[in-house]
Amino acid sequence: MQPTAVLSYTIIISMILYLINRNNIKELILGRKQFSCRRCGHCCRLLVRLYDNDIKRLEDAGYKQSEFAVMIKKKPYIKQKNRYCPWLEIKSGTARCTIYENRPKICREFPQKRIFRMPGYDCRCCSFNKKF
Ligand code: SF4
Ligand code: SF4
Repeated sequence: MQPTAVLSYTIIISMILYLINRNNIKELILGRKQFSCRRCGHCCRLLVRLYDNDIKRLEDAGYKQSEFAVMIKKKPYIKQKNRYCPWLEIKSGTARCTIYENRPKICREFPQKRIFRMPGYDCRCCSFNKKF
């Protein structure tokens, strides 16, 4: 095969791999940045998956599963109110989780994320977005 053809194929394959993984690449780069929560509450409008331990902890705290959970594709999520988590409170522009001690696993970890087994950050977090 001609060297120019090899080079062209390499460039095309690299571009395809980049397009498939561009979010992961961005989140890996973000993983090198310093995270500082702005307490904007934007992450509290994402769908939050509930695991068995989350449901048990919330029930032990006195909440009823039928009131705080909704099934989506046979998996439980926090039931949102006006497109936000009902436990979000915003006062003077500052977000607060009213169940902080009992918040679900996903909320405890966000925006940290493992990408290809390496530490990264979820690019949906406003801490990394200059627009906010
Ligand atoms: S989106 Fe990010 S910066 Fe905003 S409250 Fe959530 S974790 Fe904090
Ligand atoms: S449980 Fe708390 S941290 Fe999690 S989405 Fe609701 S308000 Fe936000």
